[in-house]
Amino acid sequence: MIVCRSEAEIARMLTANQLVADVLAALEATVAEGVSTWDLDEMAERLVRDGGAEPAFKGYRGFPATLCTSINEEVVHGIPSRTRVLARGDVISIDMGVKLGGYYGDSATTVAVGEVPEATRQLLQVTRESLDRAIAQVQVGGRLSDVSHAVQQWVEAHGFAIVREFVGHGIGEKLHEDPQVPNYGAPGRGPKLQAGMVLAIEPMVAMGRPETKVLSDGWTAITRDRSLAAHFEHTVAVTAAGPLVLSAPRTSAPAAG
Ligand code: MG
Ligand code: MG
Repeated sequence: MIVCRSEAEIARMLTANQLVADVLAALEATVAEGVSTWDLDEMAERLVRDGGAEPAFKGYRGFPATLCTSINEEVVHGIPSRTRVLARGDVISIDMGVKLGGYYGDSATTVAVGEVPEATRQLLQVTRESLDRAIAQVQVGGRLSDVSHAVQQWVEAHGFAIVREFVGHGIGEKLHEDPQVPNYGAPGRGPKLQAGMVLAIEPMVAMGRPETKVLSDGWTAITRDRSLAAHFEHTVAVTAAGPLVLSAPRTSAPAAG
């Protein structure tokens, strides 16, 4: 069942998601050669708790950390570690969820560590743009698969591959709610989008083949061909006025006076 949220609930979800956006921005600014994924995770947990929230992933089905940190061929669900130190040329997906005031926020970004090859920059750019194109389809009266199709169309038009084993999701009082939001499919299918639905849309894109496997840690998903992967995610509400990206970074306020 897909829940439609009231305006008051959307406001609470905005608060939760804005904390996610703030923490991701701080982490993005901290990503550098020599920083461990453990360092990032400690920083994230401190900022989440300082914000009055709880990490959503820590303890979720036994996941041990606040962040999923997935480097290079790791697609999603990488576990932060003291021994995993960022090197120049890496790309790292940072995925984070929080629970605040009874509601969840969830967002992810992929960041390059220093200079990366043009093809890598393009992978990140195309994946991010596929998310923007999906968000543009979040319209009352549209269909869920219009969102999915927008991701697939953009990604495949640029020669990259859609990871299919993982999908986006509804979100609200639980981290994962109905519906599932695949990143592929024909348009015009599935539930009609209604005001108050909230979707976590999260394209996962591989530079090579899209098949994945989970490592022996039980979590980390990598591309089987070890090709690079990128992952971006926003939590988006359907409103009568169009898509409301709850986890969009705040635009900086003009200086007072
Ligand atoms: Mg996420
Ligand atoms: Mg998610």
